[in-house]
Amino acid sequence: MLTQINGLHHVTSLASGAQSNNAFFTKVLGLRRVKKTVNFDAPDVYHLYYGDELGTPGTVMTYFPFPNAAPGRPGLGEVGTTVFAVPKGSLGYWEERLGAAGVSGLARETLFGEARLHFRGPDGDGFALVETDDDPRTPWTGNGVPEDVAIRGFHSAQMRVSDGGASEELMRFMGYEVTDRQDGTVRLRVPNGNGADTLDIETVRGANYAQQGAGSVHHIAFSVENRAAQLEVRKALLDTGYSVTPVIDRDYFWAIYFRTPGGVLFEVATNEPGFDRDEDTAHLGEALRLPTQHEHLRAKLTELLEPIHD
Ligand code: ZN
Repeated sequence: MLTQINGLHHVTSLASGAQSNNAFFTKVLGLRRVKKTVNFDAPDVYHLYYGDELGTPGTVMTYFPFPNAAPGRPGLGEVGTTVFAVPKGSLGYWEERLGAAGVSGLARETLFGEARLHFRGPDGDGFALVETDDDPRTPWTGNGVPEDVAIRGFHSAQMRVSDGGASEELMRFMGYEVTDRQDGTVRLRVPNGNGADTLDIETVRGANYAQQGAGSVHHIAFSVENRAAQLEVRKALLDTGYSVTPVIDRDYFWAIYFRTPGGVLFEVATNEPGFDRDEDTAHLGEALRLPTQHEHLRAKLTELLEPIHD
């Protein structure tokens, strides 16, 4: 069993528009845009990152906005709900704030004894806010959401698969422990994690597989401290029979990818070097940053990419 994984690092989804995506995550949810760059594998598409002040692993929601992308179809083999942690007693504030912003899908629920508020992102993305006690993480308050209600980072992600057993086995191998089961959903948690340390696996039988599009989660990334820990995880996964990519330099972290038995794309990303490696903390996320290999495309990309008005 692995001990290097600390919880989630980031969650990456697809969107249909950069401007609407940016406005939602910064102005409605109050997160900080910590990086404005491009998809390193397809540089004519943005890669936008939203999180706390520094984009601390476990707080970072990221998007590839493809202009006019068709909507995704929810189903099996994906992360259906991405869950943010908010302080106890703050769901009333959020229900009002999201309602006033015209956010759809607002619904209260209790899962595993925790109150949560479901809502939909701009492309129908499945999200929830869950009230947690004593989350020590410092929220970003620069976009007008008061500190006593602001998002602390991720709480969990909920995967939807046809056979949860194999996914559960993988998560246990990755260092997670089963803490609860309720109505076909198993809850796992990694000990001594980063706050974004919970994963729910929902088994649904007889449903269709998801079709990725705008509003779909593309992959979820798990956090490891450094490159040495990442290599240990990579070797263990390879030894267990997983097809894992080589280590890929994403400028702000190093990444490896593999697909789970349930069809979900997983990444393991390093906490080093972080989003402040090429920008001042005070101006994080403001300018378009391009990786060295795409810097020569700057003029063309500036022309091509949808303008984002903050
Ligand atoms: Zn990623």
